Amino acid sequence: MSRHLFSILFYLSSLACGETLYLRNFTLIDGSGGPAVPNAAMVVTDGRIQAVGSKDKVPEPKDSRAIDLAGKFVMPGVINLHGHLGNVVDLTQDPKNFTKANVEAQLKTYAQYGVTAVLSMGSDQPLVYDLRAAQRKGRPTMARIFTAGKGFTGPAGYPTSAPGMKGVPYEISSPAEVQKAMDELAPKNPDFVKIWVDDHLGKEKKIPTEISAAIISAAKKKGFRTCAHIFYYADAKALSEKGLYACAHSVRDREVDDALIQTMKKNGTWQLGTLVRELSTFVFSKPAPFLNDPFFTMSVNKSVRDTLASDAYIKKQQADKDLPKYPGFLATAQKNLKKLYDAGIRVGFATDSGPPARFSGFFEHKEMELMAQAGFTPSQIITIFSKNSAEFLGWQKDIGTIEKGHWADLVVLTKNPLTDIRNAQAIDSVYIAGNKVR
Ligand SMILES: [Zn+2]
Repeated sequence: MSRHLFSILFYLSSLACGETLYLRNFTLIDGSGGPAVPNAAMVVTDGRIQAVGSKDKVPEPKDSRAIDLAGKFVMPGVINLHGHLGNVVDLTQDPKNFTKANVEAQLKTYAQYGVTAVLSMGSDQPLVYDLRAAQRKGRPTMARIFTAGKGFTGPAGYPTSAPGMKGVPYEISSPAEVQKAMDELAPKNPDFVKIWVDDHLGKEKKIPTEISAAIISAAKKKGFRTCAHIFYYADAKALSEKGLYACAHSVRDREVDDALIQTMKKNGTWQLGTLVRELSTFVFSKPAPFLNDPFFTMSVNKSVRDTLASDAYIKKQQADKDLPKYPGFLATAQKNLKKLYDAGIRVGFATDSGPPARFSGFFEHKEMELMAQAGFTPSQIITIFSKNSAEFLGWQKDIGTIEKGHWADLVVLTKNPLTDIRNAQAIDSVYIAGNKVR
């Protein structure tokens, strides 16, 4: 072997085991909700944080690679607890699109926007488990996958009539069928179980409460937590009473009250906002204000943007007879999310991005803006998308806050997100498990 080749091999093996990064001179926003730490430093070995804090307490290790982040801000990666992976190409949803290449393209798009983990809510195919397993063996270079696998609805229930959704969820008509489906799902070890509980404003069939209750209880027996797409107050309350882990959307038919708050508190039910999902129901009924925003165009191709701006597309949105109600649903969702949070209900960060015209990555930042508009402070929003959302997943020992022992899932910003959450868009770089992915 030539000496040259030997030295290359030696260099490569030194990269493979024991790479240490030393990030320095940044302002640390660790996601715990405490004050930012100026002049901070962080040591990351093989993707895990070994030390982090004020630079005088975190010296530069020998043989590390220093990255100077003077003037920059480091916050935790964004965890989105409600997305949908792999079924959409451009504006078309079809389960045929669910390929490794398409899922990975979307995970990379999320990562470009600082979204370092996503929980895909019930529209996945078995391939998702292979992709998740491969990620969990090593250090991912794109957003981390969490999945509810194949979700549940009633026979011909919502959302099976949505374009590209026929055949995607289980369609369950009896408790016996619940058990059969759960026996099929459980060995795949989904991170959560998902149910769609909605009649889409009276236009579709809603799964009956007793079947949903049977799903929640069958899931619980197998050790799984259930998240439900809900719209109505009555469903949120009835399912929380049955032990629901999370409402995967806000209540939108009325303002929440103390009775629901007490029920959710007693049963430990979490609330996910998905405010931007409501925005998406009406924002394209006119040329959307962000169509030429470089932060949008960086991931959305010209033909999609041209379609969104076209008369035909806009007319189609305007033809929806329920359109006038949608802005009110957003306002109700905003009010309810803040009210539940203030009452001490656990709130996680979620967008419902991924379906057609709900743009992965970009929408997570719109969600932050809508939360700010609802009265959340930037610090609260950051804590919700990092610490709280990691706790929701049960992964708080590995991700979430920036602390010793956690994976280095980080977003480096050139502006301070604590003064204005829109500064979270000023992305300099993104790290997942210490891998620089942007
Ligand atoms: Zn969804």
